[in-house]
Amino acid sequence: MKASAPHRFSSLPDSGGPAWPGARPVKLAIVGGGAAGMFAAAVAAERRLPALVIERKARLGAKVLMTANGRCNFTKDLSAEDFLADVGPCAEFVEAAVRSCPPRQIIEDIQSLGVRVHRMADGRMFPADGRATTIVHAFGDLLRDSGTPILANCPVTAIRRRGDGFVVPTRGFDLWAENVLLATGGVSYPKLGSVGDGQAFARALGHRVVPYRPGLVGFDLADARIRQRAGTRFEEGRAKVLDAAGRVLFEYRGEVDCESFGVAGAAVYNAQRFVEHAQLADWTLEVWLGGEAMRFRNPRPRPVKEAIVTLGGVALDEVNPATMESRLVPHLYFAGEVLDIDGPTGGYNLTLAFATACLAVRSM
Ligand SMILES: Cc1cc2nc3c(=O)[nH]c(=O)nc-3n(C[C@H](O)[C@H](O)[C@H](O)COP(=O)(O)OP(=O)(O)OC[C@H]3O[C@@H](n4cnc5c(N)ncnc54)[C@H](O)[C@@H]3O)c2cc1C
Repeated sequence: MKASAPHRFSSLPDSGGPAWPGARPVKLAIVGGGAAGMFAAAVAAERRLPALVIERKARLGAKVLMTANGRCNFTKDLSAEDFLADVGPCAEFVEAAVRSCPPRQIIEDIQSLGVRVHRMADGRMFPADGRATTIVHAFGDLLRDSGTPILANCPVTAIRRRGDGFVVPTRGFDLWAENVLLATGGVSYPKLGSVGDGQAFARALGHRVVPYRPGLVGFDLADARIRQRAGTRFEEGRAKVLDAAGRVLFEYRGEVDCESFGVAGAAVYNAQRFVEHAQLADWTLEVWLGGEAMRFRNPRPRPVKEAIVTLGGVALDEVNPATMESRLVPHLYFAGEVLDIDGPTGGYNLTLAFATACLAVRSM
């Protein structure tokens, strides 16, 4: 049988020049239009770096709209030093990002978008009208005014290297980009768009991905005393983590919420994150509910899909902390929760997303 002729398109160059005569790559494809992606696009617009935002969901910032029960605690009014002292295990990696875009810079940036802000006594920052939509709309307005193209309802399906740049396929067509910023988020609250795509793309390009665990989530507790109080919030609550010998390893004063499944709220979330990072095998949670302390040995956290933040993600030792560029794939950048970074409750996680996005774009 006669060998069939090679498919005529197979002769298209696989590296180097354009596949389409006259085609031009976009300078920067921002994959993911959440907190990090929107901030990155704003910084790119300010620097006149031609960028395009590609978002899986029909609109930008779905998760940002859900933050702090729709109020958006967008940062905490702290110096870079104090922020880094609080942030936990990723502090060293995010130091350059936080120093180049500290919380006070983020507050100014948000104000410069025309958003009036409100500072709580503890430094947590919110839009003054208490509406996360105000922040998302402000970014949307800036992107409109700067003429930044936005492809919504458009999941990116892979990232492939092509010469010095990348092909960015979507379901209907391919894009060609000189630089790619992966800002696709973690894997918690997947209905809001973050499903782990960026980590899969990074893995296909040779990156290691640290296994996912829940961060800032409640505990399941089959306990009648908690069930009786389901629906009650203890604003002046407290959560402690004790080791097997009864020594206090961690303590956080703040809200404790009794739920039908167990306990939640800021104090509990921070205790859970501590336990997850410390990888404790035998420990006790003590919750303080308005006058009564209750202890629970080795309670089970709720699943990662319910967590406020994802622990795990693209391994930090393969990303340059001074630029957020991949150490393996030139011109590939990362920002936000796609990375193995996380902070406590109180505006830290949005700050990390904004600061890493800012540093990535400034480094291009
Ligand atoms: C309920 C809740 C409340 C929270 N409250 C706060 C708070 O008050 N303060 C705070 O600091 N942090 C808060 N957080 C955490 C904070 O929202 C996240 O850490 C932050 O949004 C992470 O930003 P990101 O840009 O990395 O990811 P995301 O904001 O999740 O954005 C990722 C985007 O990428 C898109 N995407 C994913 N895959 C693709 C693909 N293949 N192609 C194209 N687009 C894709 C997604 O649709 C999504 O829009 C909260 C989180 C939750 C779940």
